[in-house]
Amino acid sequence: MEKDKHHPADNTLAKLIAEATGASPLNCYQCGRCAAGCPQNVPGVMEISPTRIMRLLQLEAAFSDDLERAADYAQQALNSQTCWLCAGCQACTTRCPQGVDIAGTMDVLREQALALGLAATDKRSRDIQHFHRGFLAEILKRGRIDEMSLVLRYKMATGHWLQDAAVGMGMFRRGKLHLRPANAVDTRQVQSAMEQMTHPDKGVPKEGEK
Ligand code: SF4
Ligand code: SF4
Repeated sequence: MEKDKHHPADNTLAKLIAEATGASPLNCYQCGRCAAGCPQNVPGVMEISPTRIMRLLQLEAAFSDDLERAADYAQQALNSQTCWLCAGCQACTTRCPQGVDIAGTMDVLREQALALGLAATDKRSRDIQHFHRGFLAEILKRGRIDEMSLVLRYKMATGHWLQDAAVGMGMFRRGKLHLRPANAVDTRQVQSAMEQMTHPDKGVPKEGEK
């Protein structure tokens, strides 16, 4: 039977992304607008552009009958630094003429990469993963972000105590960093939504996890 060009086969990363974002990566026609507008897609920063990530997902779906080959394409997408370097600015998603949710795809790739133990292990990606975990742990704990607590989590996890110190002082002087945390909000709904997205054990941040 001929494969449906726009609907990924079951058990593929492309299918998971289509379900999570409501837009299939198979609709991408490789125009490159997402990559052209991505502020992180510059030499020396992103080694695989958002457009190429879409292509890897399409190749995984196209070769879904060949498990080894399909897994190799999926792993290339999951193992890349791209999803960690993505700033979530949405420029790609708003530019895409095919309605593909590239930014949402990066979210799924991050969670899946952590859950499957395939996340990029270079130093820069590891630092961003520490920030990612700290951010989610803050949300789970308070239902909102406490900047100082988040900074502390990141510093303790990475040991980068002096990194961005000057920027931090500037933010503090402008009232962008608060010493006292804002009141926590009711976290039950937040926790329940996050558990639905991430359990069982899919990249859920654990206190003290490195
Ligand atoms: S959301 Fe991420 S991938 Fe998309 S343009 Fe912004 S930084 Fe690039
Ligand atoms: S903008 Fe959309 S159609 Fe164009 S390459 Fe990116 S994902 Fe594909």
